[in-house]
Amino acid sequence: MTKEEALKTYYGYDAFRGGQEPVIDALLAGRDVLAVMPTGAGKSVCYQLPALLLPGITLVISPLVSLMRDQVTTLVQMGVPAAFLNSSLTYRQYLLALRRAEEGRYKIIYVAPERLETEGFQAFARKARISLVAVDEAHCISQWGQDFRPSYLQIPAFVETLSHRPVVGAFTATATPKVKADIQDLLALQDPLHVSTGFDRKNLFFEVQHPQSKKGALLELVKSRPGKCGVIYCATRKGVEEVCDFLRERGVAAVRYHAGLEAEERQRSQEDFLFDRADVIVATNAFGMGIDKSNVRYVIHYNMPKDLESYYQEAGRAGRDGLPSSCILLFGEQDVRTQEFLIEHSQEEVQDPETAQRLQQRQLERLRQMTGYCRTTGCLRRYILRYFGQESPERCNGCANCLGNFREVDISREARWIVSCVRDLREAFGVGIVTETLCGADTDKVRRYHLDREPSYGALSEFTQSQVRACIRQLLDEGVLVQTLSSGQYPLLGLGEGAEDVARGARTVRVRTAAQKALTPTDGDRPLDASEEARFQRLRSLRSRIARIQGVPAYVIFSDKTLRELARVCPDTLEELRAVSGVGEVKAARYGRQILSQLQEPTS
Ligand code: ADP
Repeated sequence: MTKEEALKTYYGYDAFRGGQEPVIDALLAGRDVLAVMPTGAGKSVCYQLPALLLPGITLVISPLVSLMRDQVTTLVQMGVPAAFLNSSLTYRQYLLALRRAEEGRYKIIYVAPERLETEGFQAFARKARISLVAVDEAHCISQWGQDFRPSYLQIPAFVETLSHRPVVGAFTATATPKVKADIQDLLALQDPLHVSTGFDRKNLFFEVQHPQSKKGALLELVKSRPGKCGVIYCATRKGVEEVCDFLRERGVAAVRYHAGLEAEERQRSQEDFLFDRADVIVATNAFGMGIDKSNVRYVIHYNMPKDLESYYQEAGRAGRDGLPSSCILLFGEQDVRTQEFLIEHSQEEVQDPETAQRLQQRQLERLRQMTGYCRTTGCLRRYILRYFGQESPERCNGCANCLGNFREVDISREARWIVSCVRDLREAFGVGIVTETLCGADTDKVRRYHLDREPSYGALSEFTQSQVRACIRQLLDEGVLVQTLSSGQYPLLGLGEGAEDVARGARTVRVRTAAQKALTPTDGDRPLDASEEARFQRLRSLRSRIARIQGVPAYVIFSDKTLRELARVCPDTLEELRAVSGVGEVKAARYGRQILSQLQEPTS
């Protein structure tokens, strides 16, 4: 079988996506690979397909227990003999799976890294013929990555113990140059082929709203997407509960998820969402690691996260199936203060004050970049990609900013006054006093330091203090001003790069004001017409019935994308059915007749 035939037979896909083919070719030719591909790019196919074509067994090392189960269920649905070995199995189940593995019954085995160190597993591995070791989430091997897992360091020693060195493929969605170097060295990859498809997710629409009322904005966003699956992230457990209650009271089928809930409720919420029984899940960032649900149409952040790494990872859970989906952040000034507070209190266990301060400065810098994303008037996609070190065009025309979803005000004149005030006060005061001076306030401090004698005193008296603060924040985001900590006291305003240009009037500064009406497109691809929609709904109920009987999530039977395509094409024969993207041989044989008869019913 060729790799193209395998792609069609098992997965029902007609063509490879960018990056998949070179990775597959290299692994089949026995060359190690280091692949950096964003979420939803199709990494699994890159190692599963060689696994099907190579002799012997493929081991997939993955840190995420819930993801393993999902992937194995999906493979079994496609007719691939696969299993997982991890802590969710009882000891008896584990022994049974291991015995079957020894009998050569599985082609693909998912295993948690901790397993590699156990005697029973090592004994099996030494005897088995292992052709390929695929390391998923390979950044976990690096201390520079955000999810360091010490057990990943055992992988090369394990590979050494095998009688025949398998080809090794390492996969990750996020890797800075440091992490990439670590993956290559620590995993002992041999002359690996490097493949990077970039970080862009073209099907995602980005938007930041600055609403007067977050609840109102949220309700509007959710209500305008009936029947679509969405994740709403809140910063705190209390936030999750409030927002979930609020949505439920207004008739939205929402469930909640955070680490403070009983394990039973967490499990139920997760399943209700995965099995399409609840459209919306309101959660803290505890939800989502390893959730493979492909038809999440939108991710809304009710609060701004602490940095862009977290944001892109969470928002990136939308649209894994490649259909248009939205990532919307509801920003409020309070979010910045909350995150600053968390950062201030995050290093308390670090003893060494110098290290603590350095870590804190890095976190504050990352927070500044995150805040900059919320306030920028430029292209949001470009902002994210540049943060991850990838160049991109000035405008993507696929985010709310490119579509002009805000008003901009030129504040260059105000900015000049602010910069000269900070300079005249010799960078010795914080935001509060600088603001009071510019607004011409008559306060104790102003009098004590004789600030009313400064040329900038009262220069911006036609503005409110909160407007002046907003201008200062913009200048901080752009790095025109900087905040420095004065020996553990409150932060002082200083001049940054570009302050000189602003003072000379050589640089324009703009601030964005309240977002206008949301321009968010409806998610999903071209809308179905009435009869297509009716067929799609019938297919959805059929899929739910099948999923329920088998006790698996609906999307492992067929993705929404495949169902929509079936509803559109409306095949009459099994032959035509197999031509639809996402329908492989085994699924056509298992469900083909039911689908055809469902489609042949007259549409009422
Ligand atoms: P990743 O692990 O990179 O996040 P997945 O492997 O889960 O991504 O793939 C995301 C989705 O894309 C899955 O539904 C998968 O079946 C689908 N997919 C992968 N490769 C192709 C392809 N060549 N054509 C169409 N769909 C694909």
